[in-house]
Amino acid sequence: MARLLLCQGANPSLEVPVQIHFWGVRGSIAVSGPRFQRTGGNTSCLELRLGADRLVLDAGTGLRALGEHLGCVPVDLALAFSHVHWDHIVGFPFFAPLFHPDSRITILGAARESGSVMDALRAQMAPPRFPVPFDALPARIRFQPLLPGRPVDVGPFTLLAGDLSHPDGTLGLRVQAGGRTVVYATDHEHGGRHLDRRLLHLAQGADLLVHDAQYTPAEYQGGPGPSRRGWGHSTWAEAVAAADQAGVGRLALFHHDPGRDDDELAVIEAQARGRRPATLAAREGLALAL
Ligand SMILES: [Zn+2]
Ligand SMILES: [Zn+2]
Repeated sequence: MARLLLCQGANPSLEVPVQIHFWGVRGSIAVSGPRFQRTGGNTSCLELRLGADRLVLDAGTGLRALGEHLGCVPVDLALAFSHVHWDHIVGFPFFAPLFHPDSRITILGAARESGSVMDALRAQMAPPRFPVPFDALPARIRFQPLLPGRPVDVGPFTLLAGDLSHPDGTLGLRVQAGGRTVVYATDHEHGGRHLDRRLLHLAQGADLLVHDAQYTPAEYQGGPGPSRRGWGHSTWAEAVAAADQAGVGRLALFHHDPGRDDDELAVIEAQARGRRPATLAAREGLALAL
């Protein structure tokens, strides 16, 4: 049965491929409407699966959709955070399995002087912001800090975090499982004439790189509207260049600007593929097998 799951590009030596499901691909704030239907409007959330094991990356509004898919059932999964800007945590209180007393959730993320991921999750559920406090969640929740450069094993997944460039900080996450490597590098600004060496190091040789591609080069420079310099994000062209320099397999453009409609994204995807054929624009519901 597992062998039937193998598809083009999968590792023939593995019986079970790593499955990646994009539940939210949008940056900054969720959007809806007919112009955004092919891309989807939910914010950052990825699910990695190896057999029965699950690792979820970020808890944007896409996490609510994953929770709806799973239902209010007991789950045992890990949830790792890049950082705690609202578009990456706002889906957490709406994740249905948190409301089952037999669910076990391991939360991984930075523990900075300014506060840990857990502090941010508690704060967003504290009165007067939310009706159900964090401590009333029935699930058993534990926290495991992620320290840059120190690998952590959760089930079959090995996570290596690395600091990237973003206001208030963010972690890029290199995940290895089943002989495959996925690097999640969102909310990162290269910010100059050269690509960030830390990101290139973290992404080196990955099978799949999921990279921030919020802006066009013109937007970043302030062509239409204000300059986006210092806002903490990359252009799609930087994502393509980073994928090339890091020698990755596939590139997924991610964290699309909330104003980016389906037609605009199709143009960006075509331009990016012109430079690097093994590139796709992440869309909600997209599933890949590595
Ligand atoms: Zn974001
Ligand atoms: Zn952010």
